[in-house]
Amino acid sequence: MKKFDVIVIGAGAAGLFCAAQAGQAGLKVLLVDNGKKPGRKILMSGGGRCNFTNLYAEPGAYLSANPHFCKSALARYTQWDFIDLVGRYGIAWHEKTLGQLFCDESAQQIVDMLMAECEKGQVTLRLRSEILNIVRDDDGYTLSLNGDEVRTSALVVASGGLSMPGLGASPFGYKVARQFGLPVLPTRAGLVPFTLHKPQLAQFQTLSGVSVAAVISAENGVSFRENLLFTHRGLSGPAVLQISSYWQPGEWVTVNLVPDADLAAFLDERRSAQPDQSLKNALAQQLPKRLVEILQSEGQIPDVTLRQLNVRQQEALVDLLTNWRVQPNGTEGYRTAEVTLGGVDTHALSSRTMEAREVPGLYFIGEVVDVTGWLGGYNFQWAWSSAWACAQALQER
Ligand code: FAD
Repeated sequence: MKKFDVIVIGAGAAGLFCAAQAGQAGLKVLLVDNGKKPGRKILMSGGGRCNFTNLYAEPGAYLSANPHFCKSALARYTQWDFIDLVGRYGIAWHEKTLGQLFCDESAQQIVDMLMAECEKGQVTLRLRSEILNIVRDDDGYTLSLNGDEVRTSALVVASGGLSMPGLGASPFGYKVARQFGLPVLPTRAGLVPFTLHKPQLAQFQTLSGVSVAAVISAENGVSFRENLLFTHRGLSGPAVLQISSYWQPGEWVTVNLVPDADLAAFLDERRSAQPDQSLKNALAQQLPKRLVEILQSEGQIPDVTLRQLNVRQQEALVDLLTNWRVQPNGTEGYRTAEVTLGGVDTHALSSRTMEAREVPGLYFIGEVVDVTGWLGGYNFQWAWSSAWACAQALQER
């Protein structure tokens, strides 16, 4: 039976990085994945350009039942450390918006970099491998893979969450946690589009494709200022993906479609300057023209000039556009979600090492853990930081 110092399950962002670091520290590492190739989500990420970190990554951008858990790892391996690594490989990048860093060329460069790092660490990579069974004894873990058995004293679970089953996502990590008595918090799709109830969907389907700057707020008071996109299924765009992580079934979200202006003051000012301008044309200075036209054709925006717009109509209009309340029917679910909220309960893990407190030699890193970042490179940064913290601990064993 082959023996390794470390076996890492999952050749995604966290697993590749952890295996590379542990290997470079001189440990004999096996990295196992059930897929055909490593880093499949990285390749798909950021529209093929991988939003690999965020300049503003800090603990406040992460959701977890234990908000303090992510602090240690994020502080010890920061976005600057990863930017430095990317720089050493000569990978050109740019900031798109809000601190989000993307490769200039391709996400493949990040996978190639991680693979090169694994090669430097002489990591053995085994793809298309199912882990059929894990048995623990006093000295470590025996894993039955399809074909043979392997042994280790340190098992790292980096098998990710449930989002996008088409890219290899599986509940494997949660099963391992339960097998060894670790609690797993309920999971749900995060960073995911909303679906709408039928009447509202019918009302807004005509807007499919329209994107508008918005401030979107959840019932708990959290809000994001980003773009909202009307789709044929409901609502999407970065603003919606962000707030979806803070939304619970049955709750409402509130949308301000004119976040950059005091709409009432704007209409008053326009009325003084050009009283015979149509309300539609005035509003088109603040909102996409198509949105205004569709809302008017549906009777939600009166077909009047600014002079004709009475006080009651103006108040109703301002309320409609700045305080639009939507009760989503649900989300598109794991099929299109970027992340999985919930997962292995961090109370059962050491925040310094990622090791299970009660199960020596068992580690959980990346998305399988109950730490979920905002949209914008925060989730990869958690993968890198948690992987690094774990690899440090593996060296110190
Ligand atoms: P993963 O990267 O999901 O890797 C898990 C690995 O485990 C996979 O290779 C899988 O095949 C393997 N595995 C699963 N089950 C088993 C099993 N039973 N046996 C063996 N192997 C198994 N985040 C960002 O920060 N920036 C972005 O631009 C971004 N874009 C995204 C785009 C898409 C379409 C999606 C779906 C997600 C995106 N994310 C992004 C989120 C990010 O991809 C994840 O948070 C991150 O990949 C998590 O890393 P991980 O290593 O924990 O899990």
